[in-house]
Amino acid sequence: MTTEGTMPGNAELIERGSKAQLANYRPAPVVFVKGDGCRLEDADGRSFLDLSAGIAVTCIGHAHPTLARAISEQASKLLHVSNLFYNDRAVELADALVSRTQFERVYFCNSGAEANETLLKLARHHWHGLGEKRHQVVSTLGSFHGRTMGALTLTGQLKYHEGMGPMVGGVEHVPYGDLAAMEAVVGSETAAVLVEPLQAEGGLHVPPEGYLAGLRALCDRTGALLLFDEVQTGYGRTGAFLASEGAGVVPDACSLAKGIAGGFPLGAVLVKDRCAGALPPGTHATTFGGNALACAAGMAVLEVFEQEDVLANVASRGAQLGSRCERAVAQYAAAAEARGAGLLRGIRLADTVQPAEVMGALREHGVLVTLAGGNVLRISPPLTISSEELDEGMDVVDRVLAGAQ
Ligand SMILES: *Cc1c(COP(=O)(O)O)cnc(C)c1O
Repeated sequence: MTTEGTMPGNAELIERGSKAQLANYRPAPVVFVKGDGCRLEDADGRSFLDLSAGIAVTCIGHAHPTLARAISEQASKLLHVSNLFYNDRAVELADALVSRTQFERVYFCNSGAEANETLLKLARHHWHGLGEKRHQVVSTLGSFHGRTMGALTLTGQLKYHEGMGPMVGGVEHVPYGDLAAMEAVVGSETAAVLVEPLQAEGGLHVPPEGYLAGLRALCDRTGALLLFDEVQTGYGRTGAFLASEGAGVVPDACSLAKGIAGGFPLGAVLVKDRCAGALPPGTHATTFGGNALACAAGMAVLEVFEQEDVLANVASRGAQLGSRCERAVAQYAAAAEARGAGLLRGIRLADTVQPAEVMGALREHGVLVTLAGGNVLRISPPLTISSEELDEGMDVVDRVLAGAQ
């Protein structure tokens, strides 16, 4: 089946994609072909309002002209030279991140999982370099840190471990948000504690007041490194540029990815001086890391953050989204609880409704959201979303929730 002359439509592309692509995903029956700001268009020409931003990735919206221009200009100049040399774009982006945050060093890679693998290796090798026997890394139950073996081991959702063992040794999980549980296992043999400042995939759990500061104090007391996974929370998603800044806590290192290059693949690890020497030459590397094209995209995102005062928009749109979620919970039996912060919020659905059905109904009505923790409708729009677009999307959420009870 074709539409618009020779352009293939949804049905034809899905038919082909479902045969040619590995069946490890369960994609919704829609094929996107272009986007503009908070809108996406599918292969049949239908328009959608994107309140998912590609799982909190496309932070400045689709096809932002500044980002598009930066990528195309860089593509015709220089893509890649390897890490046997410097390239100007990586130098600029590392510098920009160091001046914008409380960290002193940057390591570039290509994804969130890879950034967390780096944190794990950095923690282990930090103590190896000091000649101390500290191997244990403590993570939290319900956490998500990625799908490569190290990151998967750190991930505290044991269903993802099933059939993948044996896992990497020396990793323990304790309940999230529970400082006493962390205090019970962290000690003189702990290399590092790794947490998400807001547990995102696990269901948008905001930790109790003082949890992150308590972890900082615990790590200071025991000597363990404190590591934050800011792959989802970083880049303004929860309000501050980094969620750690919002909490007033400085970890020893943190991972970034998702929003960092607005949808272009890029990951990073930000490191404090304390462990900046943990990975000397030969201990860690990645071919594509710090690629000039990816870093040009990263620079364009920072430029847009400045020019459009994106963090101010997160503050006002985040408050708007928060009250819309609260209101929905007050009004609809299908909505059980409002969760999250900034523009990473959601509504935990009542046990009586099928989360996948609600998400599907929203898509039928032209609004895209994702699920977190199985039963939380996650609303993570581009950080540049307008007040009108957010209301338009939340009006549809209201209608679908009203019909779901
Ligand atoms: C998405 C995510 C990851 C994994 O990132 P990938 O780029 O998919 O490897 C890790 N940690 C958190 C908190 C995430 O949200």
